[in-house]
Amino acid sequence: MLGTKLNLFDAFKNETLNGCYNYIWLMPYRFNFDLTKVPRYFFKELARIAHQKQVHKKMGKTSKKLLDKFRLQEITGLNLSDALTLLEDFVDIQVRNMVFKEKFDKTRKRALLLPHCARKYMDNRCKASFDPEIPSYYCQHCSEDCLIHKATLLGEERNYDVYILPGGSCITKILQKGKYDGVIGVACGEEIKLGLKILEEFNVVGQAVPLIKNGCANTSFNLESLAKVL
Ligand code: SF4
Repeated sequence: MLGTKLNLFDAFKNETLNGCYNYIWLMPYRFNFDLTKVPRYFFKELARIAHQKQVHKKMGKTSKKLLDKFRLQEITGLNLSDALTLLEDFVDIQVRNMVFKEKFDKTRKRALLLPHCARKYMDNRCKASFDPEIPSYYCQHCSEDCLIHKATLLGEERNYDVYILPGGSCITKILQKGKYDGVIGVACGEEIKLGLKILEEFNVVGQAVPLIKNGCANTSFNLESLAKVL
């Protein structure tokens, strides 16, 4: 594999005994990031330029200029290569959302998939119930200031079935059980790509909201961005 340019969608897929899939990614995120201090305008500007010029895969100097303009490396501490990868993933997600928005708006039965790592607590202080069959958590609203609590309420208000997933690999079960035609996923870029690949297999339209703070716990996403795509 050395010297081979790998696509982010490249993965080995293995079916496990419980019907879920394990994906071994060829190009995983090897870094953590925190974009919570980057102005929202940055993401809008990024998508606008990419959509307008249709060059989001090869923005080259423009990407570098945006990184500099918004001091992205300084704020996040990422090296240039990781910052550019992150930028490309963000643009990819924004552009895909735009392209499939009209189709998504016509869907009727929808699910909202939230990441369990954005719960306020990752231990037994979180009172969410858990269904090992899917597997998914279901928020029991123990903390008003929990991001997952707020996102769950938002989703349920708009008639979404809400799942809080420990990983993206069991989306297959959700789609088989729920017969959804529209799905919104909140996750890191890696999981979003995995999810979109599964949605394509089921011919389900997707929208995505990327995490703005990555990691194994205390991750974060923008609630306003979610409200806009719901
Ligand atoms: S509000 Fe919900 S997701 Fe958040 S910690 Fe409580 S039960 Fe868990």
